[in-house]
Formats: sequence, structure tokens, C-alpha cells
Amino acid sequence: MSSARNSYDVVVVGGGHNGLVAAAYLAGAGLSTLVLERLARPGGADLVSPLPGAVVTDLGLDLPRGSRNPACGDLASDLVRAVGPTLLQPLPLERDVRAQVDPDTWRDFVSTPLGVTLEARYADDAERGRVAAEALTGTFASLHDESLAANRGLLYRLLGGTASTRGVAELLTQAAAGAGAELVTSAGVSSIRGGDDGAEVSWHDGMSQHTVGARFVLSNVAPWVLQILMGGDEDPATKPEGAQLRIDLHLDRLPRLRSGADPEAAFAAGIVVGSGYAELASAYDEAAAGRMPSVLPGRLQGRGDTLTYLGTHTPARLFADDPQGAKDLAVARALATIDTQLAEPIADRVVHLEARTPQDIEHDLAMPGGHRFHGDLEWPWAPNRARLDTPAQQWGVQTDVGSVLVCGSGSRRGGGISGLGGHSAAHAVLASR
Ligand SMILES: Cc1cc2nc3c(=O)[nH]c(=O)nc-3n(C[C@H](O)[C@H](O)[C@H](O)COP(=O)(O)OP(=O)(O)OC[C@H]3O[C@@H](n4cnc5c(N)ncnc54)[C@H](O)[C@@H]3O)c2cc1C
Repeated sequence: MSSARNSYDVVVVGGGHNGLVAAAYLAGAGLSTLVLERLARPGGADLVSPLPGAVVTDLGLDLPRGSRNPACGDLASDLVRAVGPTLLQPLPLERDVRAQVDPDTWRDFVSTPLGVTLEARYADDAERGRVAAEALTGTFASLHDESLAANRGLLYRLLGGTASTRGVAELLTQAAAGAGAELVTSAGVSSIRGGDDGAEVSWHDGMSQHTVGARFVLSNVAPWVLQILMGGDEDPATKPEGAQLRIDLHLDRLPRLRSGADPEAAFAAGIVVGSGYAELASAYDEAAAGRMPSVLPGRLQGRGDTLTYLGTHTPARLFADDPQGAKDLAVARALATIDTQLAEPIADRVVHLEARTPQDIEHDLAMPGGHRFHGDLEWPWAPNRARLDTPAQQWGVQTDVGSVLVCGSGSRRGGGISGLGGHSAAHAVLASR
């Protein structure tokens, strides 16, 4: 299907939840806005954490406002208090955030590998594991990694909340369309040719090729995919690697829990399995050595007769040589790990099971490597010496080309908090006019 016009103020490439947030803001501000989505329906992964309250209000969404993550108590609360109010603003400088944070908090959560901090602060394996499991959600890293990937993961979990929400895509689609954005689905974008003053976007609808012009292009696809659409090579060395196994379970009823807790309430809130501190460390070591972890840590959430298990430490590399065999093994180990929390085997309750490896997620959603954040998370502030000349740089959504901005999980703060990439890119565009 072609678009209604030949050129737009803004073309959004990808109709994931971030692209829809950006489109709703920009169309609402009166800009002609086109969203091009490769799949037959918008929404991308459609599994998101609570959107920032201001986004819910601005876009008039009928959603509960997000709340703080209860799993980590008051951990690093001064850091959260310093960063939280900046998230819907241009990026703060690192030194300005640091000035508001207790030096011990900064040292323990920003400069020191998280594993060292957890071992110093907690004696108990379960307490260490509770925080570590949050930090490692969607991130394949050692807790002692000098890259501090787990530290960044934890900060975003503290800032953004944990509960997975479905159905947001439909509300965002309505908000974007209601504001006047045009949505074209089954439109796989094949190239973006841009300069500083404008760009052209081409897509194929299965029958024919279409091209439109735009003053700004917002990329909701991962940065690794964007550079290919802009004429670069598929460089395996820089391709992100996802590490999440997803299993959707359709049950005859929710299983009883060993703890005796009410299954409906417990699974609605989500339970973690196989996520003691030592278990997480062993799972990482086994996966890093190329073996499927014997105990597969994960989080199980759902209601009614459906549960979704999201596993940690199942990197794409484990499924590369024998995709089906490795998937079967991973599912068996995940179910055995789930059983450790149950008073009855989960297999007795399963009516239907569907598992998705990182490769399956990449195939379905064009997320490179199946990486749920589109690439590694970055700190939610700008380095002290960063160039912040343009609105796009100030909001952490810039590319090398002035007319092309990132609006998805690959933007500086976009991966860790749902909707933030779209909000940041929209505000950068509005500030550039
Ligand atoms: C298995 C899994 C579990 C997750 N669980 C959670 C969770 O519990 N909580 C949470 O907060 N987040 C979760 N996430 C992450 C969350 O879904 C992402 O934050 C979100 O999908 C990213 O949104 P996005 O809009 O930036 O990108 P995406 O959802 O990736 O959207 C990008 C869109 O671009 C489209 N696209 C790709 N290529 C093209 C092209 N060439 N042309 C046109 N369109 C294209 C895609 O089809 C897609 O619709 C999970 C992700 C996965 C994969």
C-alpha cells in the first residue's frame, strides 16, 4: 500500500511502541507523520513495562501509571531520585547527576561491578539473587564484568518498574492515528537516504516499491539495522546478541505453588525461578562456556490460563549449531527449573507451549540477535565531554546524519524504559523546528 502523500514532516520507520509514541506526539503537534511498519500489525514486541506517567497523561492513554520496582527495596534510592526527574528532559551531564548522589552509592552502583557490591552488602544468597535477577533481565553479562552492564541493567529496572504489560500497542496505535498520524503496515523499509536537511525512505509492500520524502526520519529499528538501511554492511562483529528465551504456556489452570501462595495473585505479580545468586553465576558461566545452563533462571508471569516465562542467560550462540535440539533442551531445563517452585509439575497443566529463542525473536521482529534492548544499555546521562550541540544530541537520539534520528530502544535511554525513546525523539524534532 502506498502512502497518502509524497512527502511528510516526519517518517517513522517501524511501528513498535516507541515509534507509535513518537508519532502520537508529533502528529499531535501538527506535523504530518507517516509510520511504516514491516509487519501486518503495529506494536513490535508488545511486551513492555509501565510507560512514564507523563507519557500516559500526554497521550491520553487509559493505562495505570507506573510504580517503583518493589523487588529492590530502597537500594540506591538517591541515584534513582537524581536520575528519575531527568528522564523526560534533555540528557543531564554525568557530573550533575553525580553531584546529587552520595559518594558511596555512586561508587557501589556506578563505578564498581555489581557483583562486588552485592557480595559486600548482603550475606544471603537469596537477597543477592533477588537484585541480581533484576539487573540481568535481558542482559547477558557476568555480575563482575568491568563493562558494568549489570549495573546499568539494575538502574533501569529501578527507574522503570518491572511488570510486563500487554495491549499497550493497541492503545498507542489509536493515540497515534487519533492525533492524525498515517500508519502503513506490511511496509518493509529497504533504504533510507538522508542528508542534514531531509531524507528519502523506500519500502516494499510485497507488490511494489514506494518512496517518500521527509524532513526527519525517526528510526524505531535497532541501530544495527538502521546502518544497513542507510547503505552499510551487515557486520557480524557489531551485531547485538540477545539472551532471552521466551516460553508462552497455555494451561488448563494455574499450577499450585510450593509456597502455598495464591497462584492468581503470585503469577500476576510475577515469580522468579532458579535465580539464587549462585544459580545465576553458574548459569552465566555455563552459557559463556557454550553450554546450556543446567538450571535456567527466569521470570514467570501471567494470569488466567496463560503464563509467560522469560529466561535469562540463554544467548543466541547456544542455539546456533542445532537450533531445534538446543531449543528442546532449553525448554526441558526451563520447565524443570519452574517445577522447583511448584507443588505439581507444570507439564501436567500445559495444554499448549510455544518457545521462542533469540533467533526466533529476530526472525519475527527483526530485532538483531533477538536483543530486547536493540543493543547494550547505556547510562541515562551524557558523558561530561559529550557534544551536545543539537537537540538530537541533547536528547540522546542522534545519528551521523542530521535528518535521521533514533526513536526506539537503541536511543540512549530508550532500551531500559518503555516509551522513552519515542518521547525523546519527538521532543528533539520539536526543538529542531
Ligand atoms: C521476548 C521479549 C520479552 C520482553 N519482555 C519485556 C518486559 O517484560 N518488559 C519490558 O519492558 N520490555 C520487554 N521486552 C522489550 C520490549 O518489548 C522492547 O522494549 C520493545 O519491544 C522495544 O520497543 P521498540 O518500539 O523500541 O522496538 P520494537 O518493539 O523492536 O519495534 C520495532 C518495530 O520496527 C519494525 N521493523 C523492523 N524492521 C523494519 C523495517 N525494515 N521496516 C519497517 N518496520 C520494521 C518491527 O516489526 C517492529 O514493529 C521484551 C522483548 C522481548 C523480545
